[in-house]
Amino acid sequence: MKAVAVFPAERRFDVIEHPEPSMSAPGDVKMRMLDVGICGTDKEIVSFQYGQPPDGSPYLVIGHESLAQVIEVGENVTRVKPGDLAVATVRRPCGIASCIACRQGRQDFCYTGLYTERGIMRRHGYMTELVVEDEQYLNPVPAALRDVAVLVEPLTIAEKAVAQLFQVQQRLPWVLPPEPGEPPAHGRNALVLGAGPVGLLGAMKLIIEGFDTTVYSRTPAATEVSSLVAGLGAKFVHAETVAVPDLAAQMGQIDLVYEAVGASSLAFDVLRFLGTNGVFIFTGVPGRKEPVAIDTDDLMRDAVLKNQMIFGTVNASPAHFAAAIADIGRFNARWPVQLRSLISHRFPIERASEPLSGKWGGIKNVIAIAS
Ligand SMILES: [Zn+2]
Ligand SMILES: [Zn+2]
Repeated sequence: MKAVAVFPAERRFDVIEHPEPSMSAPGDVKMRMLDVGICGTDKEIVSFQYGQPPDGSPYLVIGHESLAQVIEVGENVTRVKPGDLAVATVRRPCGIASCIACRQGRQDFCYTGLYTERGIMRRHGYMTELVVEDEQYLNPVPAALRDVAVLVEPLTIAEKAVAQLFQVQQRLPWVLPPEPGEPPAHGRNALVLGAGPVGLLGAMKLIIEGFDTTVYSRTPAATEVSSLVAGLGAKFVHAETVAVPDLAAQMGQIDLVYEAVGASSLAFDVLRFLGTNGVFIFTGVPGRKEPVAIDTDDLMRDAVLKNQMIFGTVNASPAHFAAAIADIGRFNARWPVQLRSLISHRFPIERASEPLSGKWGGIKNVIAIAS
């Protein structure tokens, strides 16, 4: 069967012939892959900056943002049946006995760093025709979300971030629970940095939680993104025309910054304007660039005197996948047009190299493996 694979030692990636997987345990599920999304991580893997093939394999099958249809189930499988749609999680436990996080099924908090990840770290991914997976790693998806459920995995970043935000903000007894009839973050201001898929899905999540949301981005496609964001009921501010201090003055008290751009200089510039009792969440991984000068005294003084919280977050648990599937359903009901506009192009697997090598712009490019 066909698969998109990277050969790091030979510094190439290609569509290859890859052996079909077989069912080997009673909890196994065989799936036909439908859609596989492409993100910055995939682009880094195919340019040999990140990722690692499974032990003993010269190549890694890439792809971690998936949607599949179940075609065969082992005798112990109860959560899905043939015909069902499912999104598989990405990270698998490290298997080290002392790692209490992995032992509890929370490999998203793995201590050892020895976890594996499908399509990224030492485990083949989903950009191929057939996949076999243990049912415990599958999340059933309603059939009505067939054309948008490839966005579930990138949304799990926001789901985990927002779940932690609400845990953290329980320190403020007047924030939660909300006023009767209002969503949890009613009356609070959120700033999203970045208008890629992680930023825009994050903005959708923050809006349904009740935040007054502003998206700040340098995107060259400002006109399109600005109308998309306006359609969500949020504000778009273009970083090319409004400087950070002016943005902060427009917004007033900034209760939350959701960073989704991976640019550390911008992030720390914005951190200076985080409000009292505010929370700053990092989700981006910056590339290595020149050091940036920042006033650490100012940042530390504000962190203390304004009771600020700053945290980073990565990966997601099965509960966050379930929440993302439910929220894609809510987005679909509220913003059917905007949600679909996040998916820019679909490509057949033979043409995977075009979006992977960055020849196509847009928000989220998807490899449509089967229909
Ligand atoms: Zn991704
Ligand atoms: Zn672990």
